Amino acid sequence: MIEDKNQQRTQLSDLGEFGLIDHLTKNFKVEQTSTIKGIGDDAAVLDFKKNKIVVTTDLLVEGVHFDLSYMPLKHLGYKAVVVNLSDVYAMNASATQVTVSIAVSNRFSLEALEELYSGIETAARIYDIDVIGGDTTSSNSGLLISVTAIGEVETDNEVYRNGAKPNDLLVVSGDLGGAYMGLQVLEREKEVYKVNPNSQPDLEPYSYIVERQLKPEARKDVIKLLKDLNVTPTALIDVSDGLSSEILHICKQSNVGCDLYENKIPLDPQVISTCEEFNIDSTTVALNGGEDYELLMTISQEDYPKIKANPSLTIIGYIREKDAGVHLVTRAETKIKLKAQGWKNFND
Ligand code: ADP
Ligand code: MG
Repeated sequence: MIEDKNQQRTQLSDLGEFGLIDHLTKNFKVEQTSTIKGIGDDAAVLDFKKNKIVVTTDLLVEGVHFDLSYMPLKHLGYKAVVVNLSDVYAMNASATQVTVSIAVSNRFSLEALEELYSGIETAARIYDIDVIGGDTTSSNSGLLISVTAIGEVETDNEVYRNGAKPNDLLVVSGDLGGAYMGLQVLEREKEVYKVNPNSQPDLEPYSYIVERQLKPEARKDVIKLLKDLNVTPTALIDVSDGLSSEILHICKQSNVGCDLYENKIPLDPQVISTCEEFNIDSTTVALNGGEDYELLMTISQEDYPKIKANPSLTIIGYIREKDAGVHLVTRAETKIKLKAQGWKNFND
């Protein structure tokens, strides 16, 4: 679907490794006060004073985590940064720096890597983080991109997965299932394109869910909102693998049970209509879809008045004693044991 729009194709070998690194990183500026030394020496130097530091990393492999036939490189660069920032925010921390490492085959031109880096730059600008280093090497098969994100949090303000207590509210930001349904639409259009390369897909009716898949956002705003509301969640995790598996992570690590209410799960109208079109159950999609990068948290009942009217936060259930188990309470008011069915790359 995505043609190589770049008329010009500069071979990577024309620049050499150092020329390439200089070219790709020339626009990165240091903005964070905690960055003492960014790109250009043997290692970056950071100073977080008294704050705690959080570090998280993700490795994305072409053909496993992304498909360049419908993922523009610019979006890939953006998404590779954003998914890591999401993990930083999920500790109730603020993200400050990333490193970006890539392995590329000679199939990629300089212009293609410029696209990738323009997405990385855009994410760095929007989320106000510094790109402080990385590594560049060759690959025999496709593209690999690894991002490490660094963040800071005032001591004792970090929030783990293990703090949920019986009676806490189970709360999620935004809405769920969009990224997965966006992927279904893109996969369908790819099949159509294979049969008829002249077909022009009309993605307009699916704009929200396609964007959820191709250009996800991390909920930096929700971390700020919680701070402004003076609410510290008792447990916090980002929704990367699907609601079910994230709830099970919190319950397992916190030693608690949970009731999740099917009729409370927030769904965008476009998710509902696309689920109908594809004949897929929208609850299954929200539970198992993944890649929504919303924040799932547990909040003490005491804080209920502070969050109840907030349009960014939906109460979807309650934490129970461990013995009660982890259940979905369906619209028909039957209880179904929750199972993790996150997309496991190793089982594909
Ligand atoms: P070294 O030989 O010490 O690994 P490099 O020549 O690989 O150093 O890197 C030079 C500088 O450029 C370092 O600051 C490194 O962190 C940075 N860098 C290298 N590759 C990338 C990349 N793909 N993205 C961002 N920074 C990079
Ligand atoms: Mg290096």
